[in-house]
Amino acid sequence: MDYDVLIAGGGPAGLTAALYAARAGKRAAVLEQAAVGGQILNSPLVENYPALPHISGADFSDALLSQAEALGVEVLYEEALSAEKTDTGFRLKTDAGAHSCRALILALGVRHRSLGLEGEEALVGAGVSYCAVCDGAFYAEKDVAVVGGGDTALQDALFLSNTCRSVTVLVRRDRFRGEAARAAQLLQRNNVKVLFRHTVQRLLTGADGTLEQLLVREEDSGETRILPAAGLFLAVGQEPSAGAFAGLVALDSQGYIQAAEDTATRVPGVFAAGDCRTKGVRQLATAVGDGAAAAVAACRWLDCNG
Ligand code: NAP
Repeated sequence: MDYDVLIAGGGPAGLTAALYAARAGKRAAVLEQAAVGGQILNSPLVENYPALPHISGADFSDALLSQAEALGVEVLYEEALSAEKTDTGFRLKTDAGAHSCRALILALGVRHRSLGLEGEEALVGAGVSYCAVCDGAFYAEKDVAVVGGGDTALQDALFLSNTCRSVTVLVRRDRFRGEAARAAQLLQRNNVKVLFRHTVQRLLTGADGTLEQLLVREEDSGETRILPAAGLFLAVGQEPSAGAFAGLVALDSQGYIQAAEDTATRVPGVFAAGDCRTKGVRQLATAVGDGAAAAVAACRWLDCNG
């Protein structure tokens, strides 16, 4: 058996699970296909994590990774593709091979939702972005737009307003979904304009093929107009990416893994933690809480099924 516990996903939930499992004396490894840290890496400043009033998502991830690695957690930079039950536990297939474990924690996170506009995918990197922290610097002193009314959109718009000439936030409803305090902060910026009940209809490119303008529609009147935008930051939420594990665990109608508050799935020995699990609140604090709960449950399960 390779590992006591394998954790698919290296975001805050997965890393916390690994930390707790290692502290319980289990051999644990985290599989991560991209950068360890997950979505929180996109947060320039986290202000609602208890006892850490101002920390960047990158610093949070670095600290958590160092803490886990110091306890002996291994990080395998591989994509977890599927898992199956074996006589002794589970076999996790990855893009680099396969690993076996006695208990499995799925902390797969979620992936960005897109708008589905014509040319949207082709323009990623040429005007369309899902990460203000990663790409914002390319649009310094330019006009940009952010789509969405949740915390990510608010956070991205605030971040971009520090360097961009103007930021237009396009919200499909007549109100924000994100935190009121953050929305109030945004509305104070004089280079930010919020257009409620507006949606993007078309992406218009310039002679060099990069994004130049947006055709937007006011939903109540149906009127359309052109907005200048060298950058379009999409913050329209996430969707689960647990489909590959549907043969093992049960998914809900939206594709999230069905698991109880203790993170146990329908399969003994398999636990689901963080944003990939059916739950009401998806925050850094709840992801970390889930990671701890999953590791405690997995360790108990291992100890009882020795
Ligand atoms: P979200 O809360 O699901 O918000 C998505 C936003 O995009 C909503 O305003 C939604 O509109 C809009 N939207 C969805 N599909 C759209 C479409 N096709 N066209 C136009 N607009 C569309 O997603 P999120 O902002 O990424 O946040 C996800 C979770 O992470 C939340 O729990 C959030 O609180 C958390 N988060 C927390 C922080 C923090 O620092 N506390 C930072 C970022 C994220 P409707 O409202 O009409 O559905």
